[in-house]
Amino acid sequence: MRHFDFKDGEMFAEDVALSEIAAKVGTPCYVYSSATLERHFNVFATSFKGTKALIAYSVKANSNIGVLATLAKLGAGADVVSGGELARALTAGIPASKIVFSGVGKTENEMRAALTAGIRVFNLESLPELYVLNDVAKELSVKAPIAFRVNPDVTAGGHEKISTGKKENKFGIAWSHAERAYKEAASLSNIEIVGVDVHIGSQIDELAPFEAAISKVKDLITRLRAQGHSIRSFDIGGGLGIPYGDNSKVPPPPADYGAMVKRLTQDMDVEMIFEPGRMIAGNAGILLTKVLYVKEGEDRKFLIIDAAMNDLIRPALYEAYHEIEAVKAPGSAYDEQSYDVVGPICESGDTFTKSRELPETKAGELLVMHSAGAYGASQSSQYNTRPLIPEVLVKGEAFEVIRERPTIEEILKTERIPSWISS
Ligand SMILES: *Cc1c(COP(=O)(O)O)cnc(C)c1O
Repeated sequence: MRHFDFKDGEMFAEDVALSEIAAKVGTPCYVYSSATLERHFNVFATSFKGTKALIAYSVKANSNIGVLATLAKLGAGADVVSGGELARALTAGIPASKIVFSGVGKTENEMRAALTAGIRVFNLESLPELYVLNDVAKELSVKAPIAFRVNPDVTAGGHEKISTGKKENKFGIAWSHAERAYKEAASLSNIEIVGVDVHIGSQIDELAPFEAAISKVKDLITRLRAQGHSIRSFDIGGGLGIPYGDNSKVPPPPADYGAMVKRLTQDMDVEMIFEPGRMIAGNAGILLTKVLYVKEGEDRKFLIIDAAMNDLIRPALYEAYHEIEAVKAPGSAYDEQSYDVVGPICESGDTFTKSRELPETKAGELLVMHSAGAYGASQSSQYNTRPLIPEVLVKGEAFEVIRERPTIEEILKTERIPSWISS
């Protein structure tokens, strides 16, 4: 069931016409569907029914507290990668006991905040980080629960920039150092070993790399237990891909992923932790944008839209494909044209797609960029002093702005002309 679909000749988000949102909120803006967020979370959770599993939604995919609160109500935990994301998760009502802290460069302040909140586990990525955490925990007179993120040297991920499980990547403890790292952790007074963690990449469209990583870590857990370590949890990260509407590889459904994980881990006596991000949020959001100009080039036509790479950077950063549709349903007989869809930013990289066949489009018309719910708003910037765009959450017939568009005055207020110039 698609929650962004045509009704009465125009596209709706659930039961709200996108044209109404555009009129009230302005474009460009992100629009998210509560029903889709809920469905994705529940599909994932259902595939692990009957097992002990924590679904720690990866906050960086879409970190709006309105989205986090929607997932918190369903029982989601959170995978955070900064003190800022930790604050978001707690603000949205996710209990600290369901929060895991990942990332290769946690600061002392972030560790302090997470220890004070009482999070479930730190996923550590190096020995220097272990020593700093031990010191911070000592200072607070607590024990820090830890897992090491190990690097299984497995190739996975939809793009070189989002592949993380190869030995040349910066992530995780090198495979050959893993047992030594656990031995070292066990010798520290304010560290408590609780698990093992792995995350091999993002937009992974086949099960094989997950299977390879899980099998390797399974053997590692057996060895660690034989060495006397208590390994209670096994975090296999996120990374399950989603369909983006192009005809490249279609990722396996969450049910198949769940069945594979259950088959490989059922005899392990561990609690599983998952960190899905894109799978939950990606297809729960669209970018709503307006065509500013139709420009005739020498050999092509450009649709210049009011959204740009600062709002949605995935095409520029990862050569990502996003399906584009007009909000107004095309009639039965329409002309297709080939367009380059571009934003107003002063860089050629600000191109969403080249030579895309779309129904003939005029200035002022609204377009939708699908599959923009993950790594869209959360990666946006104010490049070209374009204010961050609003985020809107729809539920049935209701919608609310869950992030406002800042004014230019608000943006400028955070900056200063230095005193040696202004006085
Ligand atoms: C980004 C990230 C995730 C989420 O990845 P998705 O592909 O969005 O599921 C999970 N865990 C870690 C450690 C990450 O860095």
